[in-house]
Amino acid sequence: LIVVTQKDVRIEIINEALGFLNERELQPRTIRWKNQLLLLTNRNLSSTDLDRLNDLGVVERIVSPTQKAQLASRDFQTDGSVVKVGNVSIGSQRLVVVAGPCSVESRQQLLQVAHLAKRLGASMLRGGAFKPRTSPYEFQGLGETALRLLAEAREETGLPVVTEVLEPGNVDLVAKYADMLQVGARNMQNFSLLRAVGKSKMPVLLKRGMMATIDEWLQAAEYVLVEGNHNVVLCERGIRTFEKVTRNTLDLSAVPVLRRLTHLPVLVDPSHATGSRDLIAPMAKAAVGAGADGLMIEVHPNPDSALSDSAQQLDLGQFATLMEEIESFSSVAGRRLR
Ligand code: PEP
Ligand code: MN
Repeated sequence: LIVVTQKDVRIEIINEALGFLNERELQPRTIRWKNQLLLLTNRNLSSTDLDRLNDLGVVERIVSPTQKAQLASRDFQTDGSVVKVGNVSIGSQRLVVVAGPCSVESRQQLLQVAHLAKRLGASMLRGGAFKPRTSPYEFQGLGETALRLLAEAREETGLPVVTEVLEPGNVDLVAKYADMLQVGARNMQNFSLLRAVGKSKMPVLLKRGMMATIDEWLQAAEYVLVEGNHNVVLCERGIRTFEKVTRNTLDLSAVPVLRRLTHLPVLVDPSHATGSRDLIAPMAKAAVGAGADGLMIEVHPNPDSALSDSAQQLDLGQFATLMEEIESFSSVAGRRLR
C-alpha cells in the first residue's frame, strides 16, 4: 500500500508514523517520488491503522494497488510516464528508435552506424560494451574501451547512448559514459543489480527475462522504482517457448497488457525476439501497431562479420529501408518518427 504524504508534514510526524507501522509489522519504507514523499507498506492497512495515520495528519492520498508492483502500477499513477534520456523523451508522441550494433567492435564500425542512425531519424544509439554471452569462449565485449567509443559517438551525433551493465560493481563505470543503463534479459531478476541501478538514479532500460511473466517483470521494475528511481523503461524482447524457428517468441500482446497495468513506457526489440534479419521489419511494424513507444534495432555495417548476433543485425541499407517503412506505420499509429 502507498501512502502519499501531505506536502508540509514534519519529519517527526513521519518518524512517528514509521514507528507505528513498524510495530504493526507492515515493513514501512519512505521514498522520494518526484516532489512527493511516499510511505510504502508490504500489505494493506486495517481501518484502525488508517485512522491512526489520518489522526497524525500524514495522509494526502492512499493507493492500494491491485498488483504487487505498486509504484509501477496504473493504480498509483494514471498518466503514462515519460522518461527523459538526454534530449529524448520515451513515452511521448515521438516513436523512439534505438539503433546500433549488438556489440561495439571498433571505432569505425560504431561511428559509421551512429552517423547513419542519426541521419535516418533514430533517436538513440545502442551498443554492447559488456556482453552477456552464453559461452565464456565467445566475444565478451571491449569493456571500457567500448564505453569511450560510445561517448565519442554521442559527442559526434548528439544521440544519447544506452548500453548494458552486467554487474552492480560496474554501475558507476557504465554510468560515467552512458545516458541510460540497460539491464539485460539474463539479469532481469538480478536483484542486487536492480537495486544498484535504482540507486544510480540513471534512466534504466529493463529487458524482459526470457522466462519471465509480465508480473515478474513488473516486480523487477519495482526494485528499481522503490529506490526512488522513476526513470524505468520496459523492453519486450521475446520469451522462450517451444517454437524453434525463431530465436524467441515475440510477445506483442505484452504491449497492450503493460499499457493497462503500468504507466512505464514500453519498447519492443524485434532483433533479439526473432533472431533473424528478415523478420525484423514485419515485427517492428506490428510493434508500432500494438502501441509500443519505440523500437530497439540491431544494425551493423557488415553483419556477416559481426562478433555477436550476426544473423539478426540489419546492414545499413536494410536499416534505411526499415526506417522508411516505419515512418508511415508510425503516423497511422498516431506517432511521429522525427
Ligand atoms: C542486448 O540488447 O544487447 C541483449 C543482450 O539483449 P537481451 O538481454 O534482450 O538478450
Ligand atoms: Mn545482440
